[in-house]
Amino acid sequence: DIPVITIDGPSGAGKGTIARELASELCFHLLDSGAVYRAAALHALDCGADLDTESSVMSALVSMKATFIPDVDGVQVWLNERNVTYDIRRETTGNAASKVAVMPLVRESVLDEQRSFRTSPGLVADGRDMGTVVFPDATLKVFLSASVEVRAERRAKQLKDKGIDVTMGSLLQEIGARDERDSSREHSPLVAAHDALIIDSSDLSIKQVVARIRSALPQ
Ligand code: C5P
Repeated sequence: DIPVITIDGPSGAGKGTIARELASELCFHLLDSGAVYRAAALHALDCGADLDTESSVMSALVSMKATFIPDVDGVQVWLNERNVTYDIRRETTGNAASKVAVMPLVRESVLDEQRSFRTSPGLVADGRDMGTVVFPDATLKVFLSASVEVRAERRAKQLKDKGIDVTMGSLLQEIGARDERDSSREHSPLVAAHDALIIDSSDLSIKQVVARIRSALPQ
C-alpha cells in the first residue's frame, strides 16, 4: 500500500506550508487539493458560468483540462495551455472555489484526479476532506487548526509579501464566512476525521508541527 498522510483544516491554519515541508522531508508527492478547486472555479468563471448554479458550473467543467506540475514552491497549475499558478491564488478565486466546492457533482468530478496523486513512494495531501472522503484509508490523518485571529494575521502577511494590502477587519470577516461555508455544507463538510491527530498550530512553529506529525507516523 502506498502511504498517504492527509492534512485537513480551515484556510490559514498552515496546511500548505506544513504539507510542503513534510513532503520534501519524506520525498513524498504533494497534493494541494485547494488548487484543484481553485482551478475549477477559475475555469468556470472564465467560461462565464453562474457560480450559484451547479448545472452551469458542471457544463463549464466539461471543457476543462487542468495540469498540476510539482515545483519547489508547491505546484504549477495550467488550465488549457495557460499558466494560472498566480491567478488561482487570488482572494476572489479562493472565494469562488469555496462556492463551487459546495456542489456535490463538482466534488465528485475531482475525486479521481485527486486520487491519481497517490503514487510511490507516498503522498502528502492537503485540503478539507482528504482524510474523511478522498483517502479514508490514509496512513496518518492530521487535522490542523489555529485561531481565526492567527489565521487572519498569517493571511495578511502572505498578502503583504505579495504587495497586497488588506485590512484585518475585512480578512477576519472573509475567513469567518469561508469557514462557515466550508463547515456547514451538506457534502464533505470540513470536520476532523474520527481517527485524526488534532493539532492546534496557533502557538507552534512550522518545525514543531512537522516534528509532531513525524513522531506520529507508524515506524
Ligand atoms: O485551501 P484553499 O484555500 O486553496 O482552498 C480553496 C477552497 O476550496 C476552500 O475554501 C474550500 O472551500 C475548497 N476546498 C474544499 N475541499 C478541499 C480543498 C479545498 O472544499 N479538499
